[in-house]
Amino acid sequence: MSVVRAFIAVDLPPDLQERLAQVTSELREQMGDVPVRWVPAQNMHLTLKFLGDVSLNNLDVLADILRGETADREPMVISLGGLGAYPKTRRPRVIWVGVEAPAAMEAIQRGIDKQTGRVGYARDRRPFSPHITLGRVSRNATPRDVRIIGDILNIKKVGFLGVARVREIHLYRSDLQSGGAVYSRLFSASLNADK
Ligand code: ATP
Ligand code: MG
Repeated sequence: MSVVRAFIAVDLPPDLQERLAQVTSELREQMGDVPVRWVPAQNMHLTLKFLGDVSLNNLDVLADILRGETADREPMVISLGGLGAYPKTRRPRVIWVGVEAPAAMEAIQRGIDKQTGRVGYARDRRPFSPHITLGRVSRNATPRDVRIIGDILNIKKVGFLGVARVREIHLYRSDLQSGGAVYSRLFSASLNADK
């Protein structure tokens, strides 16, 4: 049975991806040679649901879920700014820029999580915490690396970066290649501009 690694996400406009890439390049310069896998600008997005392995036979079901969760909702605006790390800046695994989203975005995320859960995909254990991942800290990071990363994250100020209008939500496949993850769209569902 053919499977693909898949996730559901919202895209960012190129100007915002550029601003995020600018923040990334400043962080890289300030942090120096630490083992962080930085996300290239064109891969930056807001993940709503990571599905993991998806059978190609399930794509129609997932497309229906996406359509169902978007059809009765109107386009919305999200706002980007602020810098941090999960689980915390002193124990950084994921370095992120924050996202402010309206309650409707969380409702869509919850709906998708619930409906995909019903057809067998693992439910999200943590509450939705919208963010844009800039980089992932390697498990090989030394205590010194971790201290450097934490220090910079605590000092650096990232203000408001801009807004994005969300009109569509996409199902992506992710192919992990030697040069990094390559994402391609499998299906897109539009929010309803007539609502
Ligand atoms: P790489 O794993 O090579 O660093 P990546 O993380 O960009 O690349 P994927 O691992 O395929 O690529 O992840 C696709 C999207 O799903 C990303 O937004 C990622 O943050 C998110 N994601 C991946 N794994 C999980 C997980 N276990 N829980 C929640 N979100 C995840
Ligand atoms: Mg990953």
